[in-house]
Amino acid sequence: MSDSSLKGKVALVTGANKGIGLEIARQLAQQGCTVLVGARDEQRGEEAAGKLKSEGLDARYVRLDVTDQSTIDAAANWVESEFQKLDILVNNAAIGLDRTPPSQLDIDILRRTYDTNVFGVFAVTKAFLPLLRKAEAGRIVNMSSGLGSLAQTSDPKGPFAEVNLLAYNSSKSAVNALTVQFATELRGTPIKVNAADPGYVATDLNEHRGYRTVEQGAQTPVRLAMLPADGPTGGYFNDEGVVPW
Ligand code: NAP
Repeated sequence: MSDSSLKGKVALVTGANKGIGLEIARQLAQQGCTVLVGARDEQRGEEAAGKLKSEGLDARYVRLDVTDQSTIDAAANWVESEFQKLDILVNNAAIGLDRTPPSQLDIDILRRTYDTNVFGVFAVTKAFLPLLRKAEAGRIVNMSSGLGSLAQTSDPKGPFAEVNLLAYNSSKSAVNALTVQFATELRGTPIKVNAADPGYVATDLNEHRGYRTVEQGAQTPVRLAMLPADGPTGGYFNDEGVVPW
């Protein structure tokens, strides 16, 4: 079943073959847009796009490994030739590898985490920005986390004090910084850039320990992807409102 509020629009979601990304893709497509299911693995990507198509949605797989510039460039060239613009970019792909206190973290895990969660967001945003500029009102949503909030993780009595994962948490703080900096550059254009905290959602990322559903986790990013012209930019939000940086 599809609504028509995003009719004629094109959305790209990275890491959309499963988890919250797949659900974001589904909900955006249900609003009537063409959704591009970004995935690094062809089989997983085709399967996910096929699932959405079987639900009557306009979904297409696009090969996109956010750590591989050649796939990013090829995807941007394909979107340019096929659609000439991109209305919505959701930087959702991420990994969480660290399981140790900071002092025991292997630097290779830090590097790999930043490659995907930080440099991946930068590279994809940079490559697709020319196409977002061609859209009427481009929207960029960066998937952050409550664990990226220094205000929350630095509070010894806060709910995240025990989740002291240097690689993952600091990568999400960096995503927050990227969000502010791209939003600052793009102020004065119709493009809005915001960070989304989906809450603790049961997915493969946390061996399904999260207590929220993917439907709940997709709520804030989808809302930010559909912001009206008078909506915020350069902000950090969850379902309850503004998250402190
Ligand atoms: P997930 O189920 O593990 O899904 C992550 C997705 O990212 C998968 O599709 C994965 O693809 C993809 N991915 C990883 N590396 C990639 C790469 N190099 N290129 C392209 N795609 C790549 O995790 P999730 O929980 O849905 O997470 C979605 C987003 O929400 C992430 O940004 C995460 O940090 C954020 N988040 C999640 C929670 C939570 O509680 N779950 C909380 C806060 C924030 P493969 O299948 O190929 O591995």
